[in-house]
Amino acid sequence: MSPIQQVVGAVAQYQTGSAALARIEEARRLPAEPATAPAPLPGPGAEPASIAFDDVRFRYAEDLPYVHHGVTFAVPPRGMTAFVGPSGAGKTTVFSLIERFYDPDRGTIELDGRDLTDWDVSALRSAIGYVEQDAPVLSGSLRDNLLLGNPDAAEDELLRALKTTRLDALVEKLPNGVDTLVGHRGTKLSGGERQRVAIARALLRRPRLLLLDEATSQLDAVNEAALRDTVADVARTTTVLVVAHRLSTVTMADRIVVMDAGRVRAVGTHRELVAGDPLYAELAATQFLAADDDARAPENV
Ligand code: ADP
Ligand code: MG
Repeated sequence: MSPIQQVVGAVAQYQTGSAALARIEEARRLPAEPATAPAPLPGPGAEPASIAFDDVRFRYAEDLPYVHHGVTFAVPPRGMTAFVGPSGAGKTTVFSLIERFYDPDRGTIELDGRDLTDWDVSALRSAIGYVEQDAPVLSGSLRDNLLLGNPDAAEDELLRALKTTRLDALVEKLPNGVDTLVGHRGTKLSGGERQRVAIARALLRRPRLLLLDEATSQLDAVNEAALRDTVADVARTTTVLVVAHRLSTVTMADRIVVMDAGRVRAVGTHRELVAGDPLYAELAATQFLAADDDARAPENV
């Protein structure tokens, strides 16, 4: 927190004048920001990131219960890591902490072996592609939507992002190709297509770390396969973390982090966890399968 934020916080917290003044005095005495700038994060195009949580405890506010009770896991560069667990387990919060929307109350988060707070926040965020759970309905042309990620992206990069996300087949069918208007004023895209547009947009920023909060909504078989293949492709060159709701995504993960009530229960491959973790076995048998009922291809079971 900056001294200003601390002062504002102190004023809000302490209603009586003298207490507020005492707090302001205290805030003033806090050491100034260090003179040296934070280490700049290597720019886009550099190596994929590693990420490690060590005993992270976190709550959204002092009057709320802890959401993370000592979360520990490590993810090496490249490959796909799936986070699974019941609703409320703290999966999305992992992503919010990586993006530094919040900081842990205790424990550390390291990116490339350096504490997250060592990096310049805007450089950190520009190195991360974040695809939220429910990709919003779009407006404008498909091209407009993609270039939001990087207005300077060259045409061949745009085409490559479309190919990686398997949107090239869709674009071929659109009346004006990539310049077709999409959203409520144009061609309607399905939830799965919207999420792939969001991934393509993120890819144009050449992220070192892609965070994907998978849509919980049911996808048709074509969209499901497209999303799965997209993630597999991206994970060859970038570190990909996915909050996964679909068995088809989870089975191809290099590692699965099973979360429950703010803790990491187990880490392993699908095969290891089905045999070794009862909660995972149950999730795989019920929640994932239920969400995938119509779309599941036999080879993914
Ligand atoms: P998951 O993604 O595993 O379903 P979340 O990380 O979204 O879990 O949420 C974990 C817990 O934190 C839940 O109890 C949720 O209600 C709470 N929570 C999430 N976001 C916020 C927030 N912005 N403010 C307060 N509580 C939150
Ligand atoms: Mg979530």
